[in-house]
Amino acid sequence: MNSIQILEQSGLSKTEVRKKVLALFIESQSALSLSDIESAFSKIDRITLYRTLKTFETKGIIHKAVDGTNHPKYAMCEASCSEHKHHDNHAHFHCLSCGKTVCFEQVANPSIPEVLNGYTVEETTLILSGTCKDCLEE
Ligand SMILES: [Zn+2]
Ligand SMILES: [Zn+2]
Ligand SMILES: [Zn+2]
Repeated sequence: MNSIQILEQSGLSKTEVRKKVLALFIESQSALSLSDIESAFSKIDRITLYRTLKTFETKGIIHKAVDGTNHPKYAMCEASCSEHKHHDNHAHFHCLSCGKTVCFEQVANPSIPEVLNGYTVEETTLILSGTCKDCLEE
């Protein structure tokens, strides 16, 4: 699906910012940080960008790719994600050499009981770190 089809399917109006941000996610092989997205625009208001990402996340289009760094990153969702219901229950790989983060859909997060020793678990993240393919080749 292209960015226009995804926006239509999610019932979102096709603003220039939404179309362009979504196209960046579709093209990218790795998760994108705010500054990655900003650098693709000659000028973009940060608030607009935050709102756009929030909307996409709510609609099940993108998800947070938690990689252990302080820079939030986002990646395209699996096809089964929908509004308020994400299924991105997978690990994220962070390359310590180039800093890029990718989804590892084939590695599922460990399944943890919702309540553990009286603690309520709301989120489980699995972060793998090391050297990516591109960095190994160099
Ligand atoms: Zn998702
Ligand atoms: Zn790398
Ligand atoms: Zn992911």
